[in-house]
Amino acid sequence: MIGLLRRIGVCALIAVCLGATSLGAAAAQSYDLTVAIDPATRELRASASLVIAPGAPTEIILGRRFQVDAIATDGRALNAPRVYAESQVWSLAAAPGARVIEVRWHGLLAPLDNTLDARQVLSNSLPATASEGTFLPAASQWYPQLRGQMNGYLVTIDLPQGQRGLVPGRLIEESENGGRYRARFEFAHPTEGIDLIAGPYQVETRSIRTAAGTPLALRTYFHPQIAALATGYLDSVKDYIDLYERLIGAYPYTEFSIVSSPTPTGFGMPTLTYLGIDVLRLPFIRTSSLGHEILHNWWGNGVYPDYQHGNWSEALTTFMADYAYREREGAEAARRMRLEWLRDFSAVPAGTDRPLAEFTSRTHGASQIVGYDKGAMIFLMLRGLIGGAAFEQGIQRLWRDYRFRSASWDDLRRSFEAASGRDLSTFFAQWLRRAGAPQVRIATAALSGAGGREVQLTLAQTEPAYSMRVPVTIRTEGGAETRVLDLSGSRANFSLELNARALALELDPDLQLFRRLNAGEAPPILRQVMLDPAAITVGAGLSGAALDAARSLADALSDHPVRMRSVAQTPAGVPLLIIGLSSDIEGWLSRAGLPGRPGLPRGKGSAMVWTAALPQGKSMMVVEARDAQAIAALVRPLPHYGRQSYLVFDGSAMIESGVWPAQPQVWRF
Ligand SMILES: [Zn+2]
Repeated sequence: MIGLLRRIGVCALIAVCLGATSLGAAAAQSYDLTVAIDPATRELRASASLVIAPGAPTEIILGRRFQVDAIATDGRALNAPRVYAESQVWSLAAAPGARVIEVRWHGLLAPLDNTLDARQVLSNSLPATASEGTFLPAASQWYPQLRGQMNGYLVTIDLPQGQRGLVPGRLIEESENGGRYRARFEFAHPTEGIDLIAGPYQVETRSIRTAAGTPLALRTYFHPQIAALATGYLDSVKDYIDLYERLIGAYPYTEFSIVSSPTPTGFGMPTLTYLGIDVLRLPFIRTSSLGHEILHNWWGNGVYPDYQHGNWSEALTTFMADYAYREREGAEAARRMRLEWLRDFSAVPAGTDRPLAEFTSRTHGASQIVGYDKGAMIFLMLRGLIGGAAFEQGIQRLWRDYRFRSASWDDLRRSFEAASGRDLSTFFAQWLRRAGAPQVRIATAALSGAGGREVQLTLAQTEPAYSMRVPVTIRTEGGAETRVLDLSGSRANFSLELNARALALELDPDLQLFRRLNAGEAPPILRQVMLDPAAITVGAGLSGAALDAARSLADALSDHPVRMRSVAQTPAGVPLLIIGLSSDIEGWLSRAGLPGRPGLPRGKGSAMVWTAALPQGKSMMVVEARDAQAIAALVRPLPHYGRQSYLVFDGSAMIESGVWPAQPQVWRF
């Protein structure tokens, strides 16, 4: 289950991206909205008054599925909207004073589809409802949105008895009468959109004071089947808030809620996180994803990324949450996470990733590896470069200067420059604006000096050269020591004086540097084939139902359209996904001239999946299954295990997995 959870555990911030950059236009509460939802009939009925800031023309946008009963300013109806496939848009000319627009609308929401997986939930922006859960993301345009204006709001939610609902913000009143539940929320800061959530929740509330002395209401909105988990979650929230108050600055809100979802989501919004029921049930979420989501109240929902110029918030949140927890666990746990990041990145086919500065949100595997993992590693290298104290000051400065405003990568650079007194333009430019990563190697090394106590070393890197600090560990008769060497050209010579005779050199064995691992350093993992658009799927002697199942499996595994061929039609050096039956896979591989089966036990489970390196540096992934049914059983689980080198399945249950061992670059004397 780890792969699946890791994918879910990585959260996504919800942003509407209306191109909101004009923060000056932010009125405290420029929306006052009342919405009644009936999950049983899926009807929504709502009204709103919107205050439009003076000065600039704007547009009002509402989803196409809604019918407008009235839209008027100062009693005068607006002109008819322009109608698009998904939305209807009213244009408003600039006016010297603020205007109030009154809108009433209604419509039928989409039925909640709880068969979606995490990736589909992320890309699905329909406003959906059912008795077990309602989710109206801002991006679904469920209410009239003002283009280019960030707003505070007041929202009143009206639901049938038994249901509870919320939006990000402070709960200012709630009541239950006449068979209806009503709750009113206030959000006093500029925000890019309103996400509404409802469900048959049992609500637990705890009032606390944070480390900085702020009174805070913690709540869980949990489905009845997980209500018993509330106490444990409420305990954990306080620890995280205290931690980040000490590191960054005071928690910016008066509440925090954990809300369960019938779909496998992982969303962070101001004042709340929205996590799948099955995710919340996992014991380790409290020690990992929960902290990540809480930290988003500072990074992402406290300081907003300037989405047009790249989203830095997932990178910084991953570094200060997921990675920081591994560091706290110990050096070996932190190294394991760095190895996962570098191995995953090295599995992305060269030339197919985008620069970090272009990352806005997670849409597929490769963008997650860049936006979260590569980004987090850049913060790790930055901390190494300027030191922990300056790094912490930079973090605090960023918070102080940009709280409730948007900040770009350039703003982050300036915060760290001010804190460290160093020019960081080269550092940020090379890691943000370039795709890919450097590839570094020991070009030559030789012993010199008396008793081999001196090493002459040449490091080389691929062009265009990066400016970087390369750790080299020297194993000597007296133990090991690590030197950090500055490499900025494509080659550089170094002379190292030692206290004892050198035995061997290892290049960055602790994986401190973001780089593309060499073939031997990075063991092949399933992702290498899954992410490669050039990959070819081969049905190894399959026909009928087994071939159909193989095609569905290939489709589920790839982000790209599936291409099925025979091996004879496939040029050498192309990554291969081979799907066959356990009974004849070995003979088939040998006839095709492909690498043989690794030393995995035979006949275990109903299917095995493994990787092997192909001669031209690419890799192949082999799925061998008992029969068509065993292939079909992999369609749902297998896409989540891209980080593994081999797996054994019994039906759709994974019973064994692992990664082939990694080998650091070693130069022996
Ligand atoms: Zn996140």
